[in-house]
Amino acid sequence: MYNKEWYRQYYLKNKERIKERSHQDYLRYKWRWKTKHAKERAKEWRKRHRKEEADKARKWRKLNPEKRKAHRFIHIHEKKYPLLPKCELCSRKKNLVHHHPDYEYKEIYVTVCASCHRWILIPITEATL
Ligand SMILES: [Zn+2]
Repeated sequence: MYNKEWYRQYYLKNKERIKERSHQDYLRYKWRWKTKHAKERAKEWRKRHRKEEADKARKWRKLNPEKRKAHRFIHIHEKKYPLLPKCELCSRKKNLVHHHPDYEYKEIYVTVCASCHRWILIPITEATL
């Protein structure tokens, strides 16, 4: 029969297990809450920073007109200038991008993965050689 005394005894006997269980429940709940609200929070963030983001994009376009042109060119003629199935440097198959060695020549590009692209963009200086 359930009563206070019985519950007290039960609790004393299984103290550790109950504590452990409730902690796990707490963690599970926390994790669920986090994942459930991650999308909403990202949306909120974008909403709040929309103007700054737009400004940044506008500034970038102004500073890099030739890059923008090259990106647009590839985007418009995607079928004509497709990405290769894998990175030309490390053969990875994920996160592939077009890289333009020279933005003057829009149709000349190599297929690289995002991580190779990152170090390609680092200017070659005496320090890195
Ligand atoms: Zn790569």
